[in-house]
Amino acid sequence: MSREEEKRIREKYEKWAAEEEAKANRAKKNVSKKPEKKNLKENKPEENKKPEENSAAEPPKPAKVRHELPEGAPRCPIAKRCGGCDYIGRDYAWSLGYKEMQVRKLLKPFVELSGIVGMDDPYHYRNKVHAAFAHVKDGKKERNVAGIYEEGTHKVVPVTECLIEDKKADAIIQDVLDMLRSFKIKVYDEDSDYGLLRHVLVRTARATGQIMVVLVLVSPVLPGKNNFVKELVRRHPEITTILINVNDEKTSMVLGERETVIYGKGYIEDVLMGRKFRISAKSFYQINPVQTEKLYKKAIVLANLTGRERVIDAYCGIGTIGICASARAKEVIGVELNPDAVRDAVKNARANDVKNISFYKNDAGVFLSAMAEQREKAEVVFMDPPRSGSTKEFMDSAAAMSPGRIVYISCEPETLARDLAYLNEKGYRAREAWAFDMFPFTKNVEAVVLLSKGGKK
Ligand code: SAH
Repeated sequence: MSREEEKRIREKYEKWAAEEEAKANRAKKNVSKKPEKKNLKENKPEENKKPEENSAAEPPKPAKVRHELPEGAPRCPIAKRCGGCDYIGRDYAWSLGYKEMQVRKLLKPFVELSGIVGMDDPYHYRNKVHAAFAHVKDGKKERNVAGIYEEGTHKVVPVTECLIEDKKADAIIQDVLDMLRSFKIKVYDEDSDYGLLRHVLVRTARATGQIMVVLVLVSPVLPGKNNFVKELVRRHPEITTILINVNDEKTSMVLGERETVIYGKGYIEDVLMGRKFRISAKSFYQINPVQTEKLYKKAIVLANLTGRERVIDAYCGIGTIGICASARAKEVIGVELNPDAVRDAVKNARANDVKNISFYKNDAGVFLSAMAEQREKAEVVFMDPPRSGSTKEFMDSAAAMSPGRIVYISCEPETLARDLAYLNEKGYRAREAWAFDMFPFTKNVEAVVLLSKGGKK
């Protein structure tokens, strides 16, 4: 990225951040905290009447009501077979209100949810797109298809364009599919163990336009590799890197261990909150960059940093939260299990000229318990565990380090609620909570909770 480009992106971000702040202030003044209530009522009368019937452990399923689509709202022709989007074809505002209600209920024993932050344009937000490839025979006709596994099976449902995926990523996958025949690349068949290409993964960086393509093969050799790369890049000059990933295991995991870069640098760079981040194929990176900025901003505001704190960024991925918070902290310590992500994090700190941060490759629980044993302290702990939530070991150690504030970021409200109950036992009370619609039209929802010590249980 050139300096000018960086400057342009940073300015754009700062303008956006100022607008968002102004918007939030206006909203605080005028509007109630449940703006979707009207829609909820119109579309889901049964759930509004009897919320108490739905237990917290099992969130209510949306009832099969006939739903009038707002004019022009796109429908997905394969929604049923795919199963990825539970609420596609429904009013977006309704789905927001519905998710808000679910999170509100789960967090009720601990804290009142302040609201849900939605998207202005909730389509085509996914910056990471994965397609499974298959060879299908239909009578005498044979063809290759690229798409998603039908829910609960290994049958590939062809997808040409998905309403929540990045459009360019979808177009690239269609072109890979189109090129297979002329390059004589066989699609891998699980049953017969014949063929080469299993999956294609495309990652796009919204702010810079850089695109990564990962060809997941069962063997490291792609015949005609150079011409294949040339043709794909000719069709999509936005592609900045292409990798081969080898996955020869009988597994439902997409990526295998080994990878080789066959074009470009082997990673892409995106910009979040005015900082640039490199992202390797196997590193975790939030899939909705628009919502990620809103989420991080809230998390950092909740941490209420003054510049004097020692901050832990646990489950830190490529170091995004810690690096964004570093200017307001004395010192940041990041811990992450995935070695590729840790390598990215270290390089990201350097690229952003952040000197008060260090990263450790370790299990977050093991790392924190070692710190706690040495009587190390921290004033703020950010924790952003995977869907399975955190561990007792981690939370015991976090509490032992006696931070003034814990900011818990979660992509699974059920494990969040479970962990809040445990942290409550340890003396940490939830004070403020926000939901973020990170995954519009799917049933998933992100949340951030501020906890601090003391007060009644
Ligand atoms: N905070 C980052 C990443 C969040 S996703 C971001 O916002 O982008 C959760 C991360 O936890 C992933 O990078 C995953 O590799 C990591 N992880 C999973 N289990 C872990 C463990 N036991 N210890 C440390 N990190 C772990």
